[in-house]
Parts: sequence; C-alpha cells; structure tokens
Amino acid sequence: MPAFGNEFERETLPYTDAVKEKTDHLYPKVASFIPKFEWRLHAPYIAAINDLKKQKNAVILAHNYMTPEIFHCVGDFAGDSLQLAKEAARSDAEIIVQAGVHFMAETSKILCPEKTVLIPDLRAGCSLASSITGADVRLLKQKYPGVPVVTYVNTTADVKAETDICCTSSNAVEVVEHAAKEFGTDTVILIPDQYLARNVAAMTDIKIVTWAGACEVHERFTAEDIRELREGNPGVIVLAHPECPPDVLAEADFAGSTSGMSNYVKEKQPNNVVLITECSMSDNVALENPKVNFVRPCNLCPHMKRISLPKILRSLQTMEHEVLIDPEIIEKARRPIERMIALPLKRQSMYNHLHAPEVAAVEARI
Ligand code: SF4
Repeated sequence: MPAFGNEFERETLPYTDAVKEKTDHLYPKVASFIPKFEWRLHAPYIAAINDLKKQKNAVILAHNYMTPEIFHCVGDFAGDSLQLAKEAARSDAEIIVQAGVHFMAETSKILCPEKTVLIPDLRAGCSLASSITGADVRLLKQKYPGVPVVTYVNTTADVKAETDICCTSSNAVEVVEHAAKEFGTDTVILIPDQYLARNVAAMTDIKIVTWAGACEVHERFTAEDIRELREGNPGVIVLAHPECPPDVLAEADFAGSTSGMSNYVKEKQPNNVVLITECSMSDNVALENPKVNFVRPCNLCPHMKRISLPKILRSLQTMEHEVLIDPEIIEKARRPIERMIALPLKRQSMYNHLHAPEVAAVEARI
C-alpha cells in the first residue's frame, strides 16, 4: 500500500508523458505486486527522486523492509543495515539517503563521516535501539568487569561507542565465540536483543549476559502461530529471523538473517514458503522469485513504514534531516564495527538449537 499519510504526502504529483517515459522500464520489476492505478501515484515521485539523485550525486540505501516501490525503484543499494553501510562507504556519492530507520543512518554516518547522511523521517526509530543507552552499557561494564561487550548493530552510536565488537544476526554466534577467546573469558555480554541472545546461547557453550530488549515486530510471533501456519498450508517451508523467541525458531525449518532467508529462497526455490519477519521482506523476495509461492502473515514495522516516496523526495529537496554525530563518538563507535568487519568469518550463524537456550542473566535498566 502507498504510505501516504500526512500533510505534504496528500499532495500527489501529476502522472505526465515525461514521467511515463522515465519510469516505464521500472514497472515490470513490481508489476506483480503494484496495480497500474497505484503505480500512477508512485511513478511521478520515482521519476523526481531518480532525477534529483543524479543532480545531487546522492544514493539511496534501501533496507529489506522497505516497500517494493522504494526497494526496487529508487534504492541504489538494497540489503540489511550493515551491507547498506558498507556499500555507502564504497560509493563516490556525496549524499546518502537512508531508506530505513535512524540507527541505520547513524551506522552509515559512522562509516562515512565525510558524507551527508539524511533520514527522511526523524521518527523512524527502533524498539531495540531505544531499549538501551550508552550509560546503561557503562553500568553493565561496571557490574561485569573484564567481560567483553558484543553489541548488535541495531543500536545507537552512543551504545556502539561503549562496545568491544559489533555483530549482526548473521554472524552473532561466531562473534561471541571470538570475543570470549580474545578476552580469555567464559562469559560474553550480548546486547540488547534478549531473543537473539537466547538463540545464540543455544548454539554455544559461552555464558551469555543479555539485556531486556526486543524487536517489537519479531517478538509478536509465537510457536502457536507457526503450528497454525503449517496446519493451514501443508508442506510450507518456514524461515524465521533470530530476533524471534526461541520456541518460534524451534518450530522453523531454517533460521537466519534477512540476507540468510533471501539466499535460502533464491538457492532452494521451495514451492511454498513463509518468512517469519517484517512483511515487506516477503513482498521484495517474492518479486525476485516468481516461481515461489509465499504465505504472508503480516507484522509491519511501524518505524520502517514511516519512510515513503514523498518523504524521500522531500528529504532530497530540503536536505532534511541530516544525521549529525559528535566526531569523538564516531571515532569510538567505528572501532567495534571495523573489528567485526575484519573478522575472518567463514560461515553464517545457523540457529538450530543444539541445546536449551538458557542465558546467564537478563539485565534491565533500574
Ligand atoms: S523490525 Fe524490529 S529491529 Fe527492525 S527497525 Fe523495526 S523494531 Fe527495529
């Protein structure tokens, strides 16, 4: 559905011959998902955004959870947050527009401090990133001296600045084991997602201390949901994101990051599949795998859905909202990301629950 919602978004741009000429080649990418009448609303924005990108030497980083008209028609790079930031660092563009949420824009700024990074809506937050602050991490370090802090990339720059090494959902098990070895400890602090931490704990003998954070999209899925999906769709292959609770992953056929799930579908081409994650991900992967049937339970991320074509256009026109971070924090926050990137990881983390997913402690702000 088009995300038209506030004052300036209600003004629609006209669908002209010039717009048609500039956008007709893009429509086949999304035709099976966006009907023609709706395309005529999107196309003028797509044409204007793509023109402005060229004029201003800008790129758009489109997260997997963006709606298809953004992901397929204006995004220059698509993927998960870290893939996007790495692409941004390699690009010659002077301006980055983050079609994603605020912590992702901060990560882009940390890796590309010389570029102008824009977020089209400042309210595009994240329940995980807002669950913890840099001050919370300092208190955790006092409570567990000498224990390495591994932080999920879904955190603010302040939190990353207090961190030893970052991880993503695709490398979390390997990063935790690496951190324990490097620090010579049997315990690692893995924050802020308690479910990712529990799912990692099931795959390693390292003791995990975590934080009471959760993704508001993935924590809503239940094991009962998966059993009902299987009953209603016999033979369906279930792929789940590791931000889901452990009993959901235990019911799944495969668990992995957004890129892990996308690769699974591309390689295995299952007849019938369900992705237990944010709903736009299924729309985007389905458009790239037309022979696969997708069952679509829908949990939307309200933060991701704040980003729309009209807001991206406005951001490029007005250069709002620029993401600014204290240079000292940038310097400190870049180190744990670069440490992660430098690790010689040979495989993606697999989450298939070798033993019960118990963590040593779940800490929370007092
Ligand atoms: S899907 Fe979850 S982790 Fe991703 S931005 Fe939304 S709330 Fe945050």
